[in-house]
Amino acid sequence: MKELVIDLEAEKKEILKRYRALLKASKAHLQKGDKRLIRQAFDMALESHKDMRRKSGEPYIYHPIAVAQIAAEEIGLGTTSIVCALLHDVVEDTAITLEDIEREFGKKIARIIDGLTKISGVFDTNSSLQAENFRKMLLTLADDVRVILIKLADRLHNMRTMEFMPRDKQLKISSETVYLYAPLAHRLGLYAMKSELEDLSMKYMESETYKFIARKLNEKKAEREQYVREFVGPIKEILEEQGLKAEVYGRPKSIHSIWNKMRKKGIPFEEVYDLFAIRIILDSRPENEKADCWKAYSIVTDLYRPNPDRLRDWISSPKANGYESLHTTVMGPKGQWVEVQIRTQRMNEIAEKGFAAHWKYKESSSDSGLDQWIQKVRELLKSSEANALDFLDDFKMNLFSDEIFIFTPKGALMQLPTDATALDFAFEIHSDLGAKCIGAKVNHKLVPLSHKLQNGDQVEIITSSKQTPKEDWLNFVVTAKAKSKIKSSLKEEKRRIGEEGKEILERKLKSLKITYNSENIQKIANYFKFLSTLDLFYNVAKGHIDLKDLKEYQASEKAVEHRSPDRIEAHQIEGLINKVKTKDSDTLLIGEDLQKIDYKLSTCCNPIPGDDVFGFITVNDGIKIHRTNCPNATKLMANYGYRVVKAKWTSQKELAFLTGLRITGIDEVGLINRLTTVISNDFKVNMRSITVDSDEGIFEGSIMVYVNDTQHLDNLIKRLKQVKGVTSVTRFDSEPQNIVKAS
Ligand code: MN
Repeated sequence: MKELVIDLEAEKKEILKRYRALLKASKAHLQKGDKRLIRQAFDMALESHKDMRRKSGEPYIYHPIAVAQIAAEEIGLGTTSIVCALLHDVVEDTAITLEDIEREFGKKIARIIDGLTKISGVFDTNSSLQAENFRKMLLTLADDVRVILIKLADRLHNMRTMEFMPRDKQLKISSETVYLYAPLAHRLGLYAMKSELEDLSMKYMESETYKFIARKLNEKKAEREQYVREFVGPIKEILEEQGLKAEVYGRPKSIHSIWNKMRKKGIPFEEVYDLFAIRIILDSRPENEKADCWKAYSIVTDLYRPNPDRLRDWISSPKANGYESLHTTVMGPKGQWVEVQIRTQRMNEIAEKGFAAHWKYKESSSDSGLDQWIQKVRELLKSSEANALDFLDDFKMNLFSDEIFIFTPKGALMQLPTDATALDFAFEIHSDLGAKCIGAKVNHKLVPLSHKLQNGDQVEIITSSKQTPKEDWLNFVVTAKAKSKIKSSLKEEKRRIGEEGKEILERKLKSLKITYNSENIQKIANYFKFLSTLDLFYNVAKGHIDLKDLKEYQASEKAVEHRSPDRIEAHQIEGLINKVKTKDSDTLLIGEDLQKIDYKLSTCCNPIPGDDVFGFITVNDGIKIHRTNCPNATKLMANYGYRVVKAKWTSQKELAFLTGLRITGIDEVGLINRLTTVISNDFKVNMRSITVDSDEGIFEGSIMVYVNDTQHLDNLIKRLKQVKGVTSVTRFDSEPQNIVKAS
C-alpha cells in the first residue's frame, strides 16, 4: 500500500477552488436565490462525505462537485440538477435520508435523488436481476429525464477517473458503459459525451488498439491540419464574399468511431479515409437558418464535387433526438472524400449538448421528437412482457439506429429506425394491425412483410383476419415495439400449447410411477436440456421429445449418487465465486494444470495465450474463458458482472489453441497449396479445417489453426501475407451465429 501524506489545509483550499469553478460554470442559469440553494447542497454534501475518500486517495467531495460541473457545463442543466448532482451520493452512502433532503430542498429534488439512489444499484447487486434493474432505470427516465442525465454525468466522471480501480472493475464498468450508457447518451443527443464514453471504455477494454490508433492519429496530425487548411480556405473566402458569418474548422473523428470503421469494413488504419469531418457553423438569424445552410451547401458543392448518395438533410426532418444538420461528402484535393457538416450555432448547441439545449430553444416542447420518443419508451415498458434481458437487447438496438421517414396512405409522417420493414410499420401504427398483417403496398406496389422500407416510402398495410404472429417474423423486424408484441403473442400461444403438453406428461409420469412435482419437472427439463419447464411442456405437446426417453431419465436419476463432483449447480455459484476470489491472488491462472478449478476456452471468441481474457462462471459448464474483446463479453460483464473472475495466462508453449484466420486474395492456381505449405510445413501448425470460397477470381477462405499464443499467431499472419496472391489475413473472433447464452 502506498503511504498517503495528506495536507488538510491545502485540500480545503482545493475544495473551495473547485466549488467556485462550479459556480462559475452554472452562472448562465442562476436566478435569484439559486446560489444559496447550491451552497446549501454543497455544504450538506461536504459535511456528509467528510470522512470518505475516493480510490485515488482524494477527498470524496471532488466527485459530486465534478458531476455537478459536468451537468452544468457539458449538458447545460440548471440549478435543480446541479443541486441533485451535488447530493447524488448522500442518501446512498451516508447517514442522510430522503426525508432530510425533502425537508431541506423540497419534494422535487427529493424525487430526483430518490430516482438516482434507486438506480445506483443497477449493476452493483449480486443478483441476476440486473436487466430488470435496467428496466427500472428506464422507467425513471420516463419519470424525469434529469435522473438519467445526472446519472450520465456521474458515469462520465467515474470513467474519467478510473485508473485507480482494479482491472476487473475497470472492465466491468467499461462494459456497462458501452452496453447502455453510451447508447443512452446517443439517444438523448449528447454526441460529445457519447464519443467520450466510448473512447474511455475502449481505452480500458482494448487498450493496445486504442494506443495504436491514438499514436497513428498523432503521427499524421500536421499533415492533416495542412490538408484541412487547404480545403477550408476557399470556402471561408466565398462565405465571406456572400455575407455569411461562419466558423469553419476540421474536427477529428473519435478513436472509437475509427476503430468501428476498421472492424466493420475489415480495413487497416491507413485505409480509413474520413479521419476528420469539416464543420461549417453559421451565425444565422432564426428566420434565415434553413436558407443559409443551403447557401453554404451550394458554395461547398460549387468548389468540390459532392457524392450524390451522401446528402443527408436533417434540417427539414430532424432526428428524433433533435439533431439538425446538413451532411454531404465531397471530393477534396488529392482525390480524398471529405465529409462536410453544415449547421447554425443553435443547431450546433443541440448537437453537442442534446436534450437540455433542445429544451432551451423550444418553448413548448411537447412536439419535440425526443418527447415522442420518451412517450414511446413509456408505452413499451408498460406493455412489454418479454424477458428483461431480451427486451434490453431490442431496446438498445433502437437507441443507436438512425431514423427513416415513412408516409401513411393519408400522408401522415411516421418515424422508424433504419432497416425497418413493412411489418415494423404495421406494428408501429397499431399492434392489431401488425398481428394481422399479411403484406403491404409500398408506393402502390405489392411487397412481402419483410420488405425493408426506404426513406420517403408511402406504405399501405394489407391484413387478414386469419393471420397470427409467426416465429420467423422475429428474424426481420427491428423495432423494439414489434419484437415485444410478437414475442408476447408467441408466448401466449406457447403457453396454451404447453398446457396440453403438461397433461400428457402428467399421465406419462403416472404410468412410470414418477411423482409429479415441480422438483421432478425441473429435473426432467434439465435432463432434456430445456431452459424452462414451459419449453418442456411445449415440446412434449409438439411431439418433439420421445417419451420413451423418460425411462432413461429414470435410470440416470438412480445413478445420481455417483454424480461428478465438479459439476456446478446454480446454487453453488456463490460458493465457487468465493473460492476463486479468496485465492491468494484472486486471479484464475490458465494454461497449466496446477489449477484445481475446471475451466474451458469459450468457442465464441477462441482465446489463445497472450489475449486479454476473463473467466465467466456458467451454470452448467464450469468457468468459461473469454477474450475481453469477445463479441459477447460486453453483454456478459454488463449483466452478470458478479460472475466474472479475473484470469490470466501462464507462460507455456506446449499447448495449442484453436483460432480462425480469414484470408482474401486473388484466386491463382496453387494458392491454397502455397498457403497450406506455409502453415503446415514452414510453421508446423496443425489445421483443423479449411473452407474456401472463390467468386470471379476473388478468393476468400477461412482456416482454423492451432497456435501457441498471440506471438506465434502474429508471425504466422505476417508470413501468410507474403504469399503471392494474398491481399489480407485477419484473425476472426467468432461466427456471428455463435452467440453464447449466459447460463
Ligand atoms: Mn457518484
